[in-house]
Amino acid sequence: MIRIFQNNSQILSDWNYKIRTVYWLIGLLIFLSSIGSWPFATMQEHSTIQHLWKYIFVQNGLVIGILLVAELIYHMNTRWQDYAIISIGSGFAALIHGMAPIHVSGVQIVVILPILTSALYFEYRKVLFACASTLLPYLAIITFNSTYRFDVQKPVGYGLILFTTIAALGIVYRGLKIMKYEKAALINEEKYRLQQKANDEALSKDALTGLNNHRCFQERLQTAVNSERDQPLHLALIDIDNFKQVNDDYGHLTGDIVIRRIGQILKGLTNCNCFAARYGGEEFAVILSGLNSAQTEEWLEELRTRTEQTVITELGNQNITVSIGCHLLEENEDNNFLFCQADAALYRAKRNGKNQVAW
Ligand code: GH3
Ligand code: MG
Ligand code: MG
Repeated sequence: MIRIFQNNSQILSDWNYKIRTVYWLIGLLIFLSSIGSWPFATMQEHSTIQHLWKYIFVQNGLVIGILLVAELIYHMNTRWQDYAIISIGSGFAALIHGMAPIHVSGVQIVVILPILTSALYFEYRKVLFACASTLLPYLAIITFNSTYRFDVQKPVGYGLILFTTIAALGIVYRGLKIMKYEKAALINEEKYRLQQKANDEALSKDALTGLNNHRCFQERLQTAVNSERDQPLHLALIDIDNFKQVNDDYGHLTGDIVIRRIGQILKGLTNCNCFAARYGGEEFAVILSGLNSAQTEEWLEELRTRTEQTVITELGNQNITVSIGCHLLEENEDNNFLFCQADAALYRAKRNGKNQVAW
């Protein structure tokens, strides 16, 4: 979810790309209209030469200038990019308005371009900036351009700027509200997802060791036996030796510490081939898939020796040992049979003197 909000600047950058593309289209339209209106030039207030100079050279030159500035700003990617893009829109509005022939009525409509563009950013200050950057050139044009000195439609532009600004502010207000609700909904959804994940973990993990619990182990064993028969599947049962003595001599709390320590050793050895679980009490189970018997033996020996070599300070720097019984699943054997065979092997390991792996 955090990623979604962090990507906001990426989304804005995409918007600037789109706006820049629209500017190019506007530039193309202005160019085409200047070419298209040439045959009618003599019917208007200009001669053909005047038209060529004013609309084909000056106007299109200014359009290209504005577009190049837009390109430059877009590629510079500064933090003022959004304001600069809005200003380019104001520049277009001023250009179209300032250069339009007197007989073209309703040209003031172009003032809405930068203001509506600014609403896309959903920031009040950008809308107000667009309003100011459109109003100032508009004022300059109707004051200094002789064409508009006596134009009765002057207030139309003011009205358009005012009403479009109000509409854009309304859009921003509404947009921000929706974004706020959406953000709250996303946060709640994320919280719910994390809660679900925690619940699922709590249901499948053993609280003392953090290993998979008995229920999870049974499910995994069932799945492995049912659907992973195309590769070797070993089950190993591990039991801490003389653990009753530990409880008797050092208390149950210390006994718990020992169980947790074995859990850590198991976790340290677990890889994608192993699924380790606390079966119950001081007994653990490991499902090893995809390893042949020699590799499994090696893995279990590593577990046995690491346990033996671990000095436990809570036991007065004594160490503890584990006995391990292991069985390779054969054809026609089911999970119950597999478990019984591993348990029988564990019994043999105990009977033969503990601290060993038996098959
Ligand atoms: P062996 O070498 O034959 O396995 O001998 P053992 O003493 O380990 O014998 P046994 O497996 O019968 O004893 C297990 C003891 O583990 C009995 C029980 O009180 C204790 N135990 C079971 N669960 C827990 C636990 O969660 N915490 C602690 N501290 N002790 C536990
Ligand atoms: Mg036991
Ligand atoms: Mg034991």
